[in-house]
Amino acid sequence: MKMSESQLELIKAVMRKLKSVPCFYREKLKEIDVEAIRSQEDFEKLPFTWKGDLRDAYPLGLQSVPDEDVIRIHSSSGTTGTPVIIPYTRKDVEDWAVMFERCYRMAGLTPLDRVQVTPGYGLWTAGIGFQNGAERLGAMVIPMGPGNTDKQLQMMMDLKSTVLCATSSYALLLAEEIAKRGIGDKIHLKKGIIGSERWGEKMRRRIAAELGVSLYDIYGLTEVYGPGIGISCDYECGMHYWDDYIYCEIVNPKTGEVLPDGEIGELVITTLQKEGAPLIRYRTHDLTRMISGECACGSKYPRIDTLIGRTDDMVKVKGVNIFPSQIEEALSGIPCCSSEYQFMIDHMNGKDECRLFVELNAGFTKAEAAKEIQHVFKSKIGITVIAVPVDIGELPRSEKKTRRIFDNRY
Ligand code: ZN
Repeated sequence: MKMSESQLELIKAVMRKLKSVPCFYREKLKEIDVEAIRSQEDFEKLPFTWKGDLRDAYPLGLQSVPDEDVIRIHSSSGTTGTPVIIPYTRKDVEDWAVMFERCYRMAGLTPLDRVQVTPGYGLWTAGIGFQNGAERLGAMVIPMGPGNTDKQLQMMMDLKSTVLCATSSYALLLAEEIAKRGIGDKIHLKKGIIGSERWGEKMRRRIAAELGVSLYDIYGLTEVYGPGIGISCDYECGMHYWDDYIYCEIVNPKTGEVLPDGEIGELVITTLQKEGAPLIRYRTHDLTRMISGECACGSKYPRIDTLIGRTDDMVKVKGVNIFPSQIEEALSGIPCCSSEYQFMIDHMNGKDECRLFVELNAGFTKAEAAKEIQHVFKSKIGITVIAVPVDIGELPRSEKKTRRIFDNRY
């Protein structure tokens, strides 16, 4: 993706400021002469920023404005130890809402929509981001937060919610509950805005079919505002992102080399307008690629592909790299398999052993399904698994992100 003149100027302005105030970046950029950065190539030589850098800056080392300009913080849920704290100025909060409103407009929402927000509120950026964007658009927000499925469905029926904002696993849980209770005719949903985790085509089709809605993938991460920095359009061909607020690169996760458009690698984000905690070349660990050319929807905003996985989701078994998306793709071709699975790797008797638990659609026998799954897995992914078919609903559903790969070897 070509960096524009104005993007380069914005980045240089951010860097000048970061070097002039006491913050984590003043040290990191100490040796760098901002005025010597004259091109995209020069920019691509700058050091990356890692999640570990942000953790080391705990609690407020990232803050690059005076205290009186900070109006809120959010925190990313670190699964390992120290969390990351991101300070927001008033402009950061407004910019985030502007981007989120754009997302809703891209999904075709209007002020007449009623938006049921089920992602969590609090330190996590999700819920409040969905809410501020919808309020800015002028839609009616139903700020449920996660959980309490009975109340969730009651409100959905009584208030005639038209839009569901949720993680894919919670959307699936609600869809299954609606089917089970036979209340489909009392639900008025038209669209689902589904965020924060990569999900397979099979799951997408199930949620869309059971809820009778069109689905949009929304992208974002707490370190860079939160959800709302990009969204898929009606043509479902990747996600448009707002290149006046962020600059995106795709790099080889191992070498850090910038990859050409179309090649899969790790998404690296630089913020162009953020005040409270700007980021330069932040390694997201999300795997995707740039999609070149114009989108059929007519939007001029560039696109990244639907997330393929996380660099840290990748597991190596018997010399083969495996991503969740590959498992999903393999399962999507097998009619008896539903969208839900768990992949477990154990080290037993001196060798790696893989077990694949898969929820079966009704009407299939488990023994035959196991044979078919093992065969497809071997031919498509190249390793032998022990397939364990289970009934629909046996594997856990989660309100946040569903973990599907369990590496028990270490
Ligand atoms: Zn489009």
